[in-house]
Amino acid sequence: SGDSTQVIYTAGFTVCNLVLVIGFATMASDFVRLRIEEQALRDGLTGVLNRRALFEVLSHEISRSQRSGQVFCIVVLDVDHFKSINDRFGHVVGDSVLVQLCKRVTGLIRPHDVLARYGGEEFVVVMPLTGMEDARRAVERLLVQIAQGLGGPLPDVTVSAGLAQWDGADASVLALVARADAALYRAKGGGRNRVETAPVPTRQ
Ligand code: GH3
Ligand code: MG
Ligand code: MG
Repeated sequence: SGDSTQVIYTAGFTVCNLVLVIGFATMASDFVRLRIEEQALRDGLTGVLNRRALFEVLSHEISRSQRSGQVFCIVVLDVDHFKSINDRFGHVVGDSVLVQLCKRVTGLIRPHDVLARYGGEEFVVVMPLTGMEDARRAVERLLVQIAQGLGGPLPDVTVSAGLAQWDGADASVLALVARADAALYRAKGGGRNRVETAPVPTRQ
């Protein structure tokens, strides 16, 4: 009869509406969730990958290297005398220096290289499928460009760098980072604004 047809139409319309609303709500929450997940991997100040994301990238590179036998390098970058930048110009300027530094480095590294904030004024660049000599040339270029100024009214800064190549003899990702750190320490001791390379560990 006409009555039951009307009920079916009304019910159908309501159900369609409901499906649409739920669909949109799901899409919106997917979007929000993806944004939150993405933010969980990024540093709040500079927008580069954070420490957690760095270690994900590194373990990915290590398993790739274990499969293919190809090497990769990491470089630890540390701003020279950054405490005195804060002391002389204030923390707001210090923050801007870190932001601009990351922009500059991001613009200078290759598309497959990854920049992450390791902590404070220390950063790590992961250079996939790159050997020591190429990595060293890239880092030297990087240091020269940074020392030429970050643009605008920002104070001049230099950075020191410690470079290490993964080659399978490292016990873990932490061992690789520790070797890069030791090289960085030597770069600081050697006068800063320079890169030192970690000796390649001897294979067992
Ligand atoms: P060195 O050349 O030996 O690396 O000297 P340094 O002064 O850079 O090293 P130190 O570790 O003594 O100081 C690091 C400073 O970085 C101290 C800390 O307050 C500052 N810092 C760390 N994170 C931030 C940040 O997010 N913003 C600002 N403005 N300063 C920061
Ligand atoms: Mg430091
Ligand atoms: Mg420093």
